[in-house]
Amino acid sequence: MGVIASTSLIGEAELPRDLQPVTQGNYPCLVLNADYQPLSYFPLSLWSWQDAVKAVFLDRVNVVDGYEQVVRAASFEMPLPSVVALKDYVPQNRAPAFTRFNLFLRDGFECVYCSSGEDLTFDHLVPRRLGGVTSWTNIVAACSKCNLKKGGRLAREAGMTPRQKPFQPTTHQLQHQGRRFPPNYLHESWLDYLYWDVELKP
Ligand SMILES: [Zn+2]
Repeated sequence: MGVIASTSLIGEAELPRDLQPVTQGNYPCLVLNADYQPLSYFPLSLWSWQDAVKAVFLDRVNVVDGYEQVVRAASFEMPLPSVVALKDYVPQNRAPAFTRFNLFLRDGFECVYCSSGEDLTFDHLVPRRLGGVTSWTNIVAACSKCNLKKGGRLAREAGMTPRQKPFQPTTHQLQHQGRRFPPNYLHESWLDYLYWDVELKP
């Protein structure tokens, strides 16, 4: 069993909220809300082992599962957490921000006209020259080709049909979409909490 030396675990009062890159070997910890749902699916809510251990010491989380790897300091020893659940529920009912990422996520990172995932950009359904605004209900993900083809026209004038009407998504809808995009690395202890309805690639 390997040991990671650890120093200054309880330095800060605030928990870091940064998501860590998903790579094998750095012991990322899956973070669940108090209801044992992931805080976020895409990107998957993960903490570094340092942040996870810190949260345990700050009594902010319950350890749900762990790695075999142990973290050791002068006065304690513990397995690195692989899954933690927040003790305080974080409400997820705020409307998602209107961002490029969230818009692509809503549309599944695919062009709404041809389903290509290449060269994605944004298309104003009602073109700006006709007063179309930049909003959830007028912007769709489109590949550059389709965007160019449609130009400043309405979709129907260009003989194109978006596969769905753009809408303002709820957090729940975006979470649902995010489940379609599991990261490359998944620790086995996470699987009980993730992607029940998603076919995992071997
Ligand atoms: Zn396209």
